[in-house]
Amino acid sequence: MNRILVIEDEISIAELERDYLELNGYEVDLAATGKAGLSLFRDETYRLVILDIMLPDMDGYEICRQMRETSDVPIIMVTAKNEDIDMIRGLGKGADDYIEKPFNPNKLIARVKAHISRYDRLVSREQPKHEDIKVRGLFIQHSTRRVMVNNEEKVLTVKEFDLLALMASAPNQVFSKEHLLEQVWGFDFFGDASTVTVHIRRLREKVEQDPSHPEYIETVWGVGYRIKQ
Ligand code: CA
Repeated sequence: MNRILVIEDEISIAELERDYLELNGYEVDLAATGKAGLSLFRDETYRLVILDIMLPDMDGYEICRQMRETSDVPIIMVTAKNEDIDMIRGLGKGADDYIEKPFNPNKLIARVKAHISRYDRLVSREQPKHEDIKVRGLFIQHSTRRVMVNNEEKVLTVKEFDLLALMASAPNQVFSKEHLLEQVWGFDFFGDASTVTVHIRRLREKVEQDPSHPEYIETVWGVGYRIKQ
């Protein structure tokens, strides 16, 4: 199931979106009105919705609001330029992201992929989210957000904890800086990979015996970081 709903009344844009999505392995349903879009949304299961704001019968915000009553599926709103206030309204009503017309279709595809994989990870993390993690002397308790190293409690900031807990959820798996940035800071964060570097350094100072020879948080050169098991 890899189906995406595109609600767009400009046929050339709708077809452009559909073509790029199909090239990237998605199945696409097109709707040219809000009513048609909501009707498809009720009957089918979608991985993501691309939603134009200006539609002939109803506006995208109302469609977004109605979808959010029953679903957390990622919604990307498409807006004409200079609609800053509208964009904020759109995000306030539960959209996950927005993209301005005219847009680079490859950029849209990148956003689509990022939102789908983030959503999948959120859903798959819901199960083990509250499980405690133990990697040798490192103990992470989700319910209290406490971190112990060799039975000594370490006080971490919210981001440090999120970063550590995310990496420790899959020991030995390498996490790229970009992935960590997106997962911990969010897609719309205006930082770059150096934000991750700085937080990793602080994290090491707290959890490692000798931060220059880390036992837990290993740098995988040119790739990212991992928690050594
Ligand atoms: Ca339109």
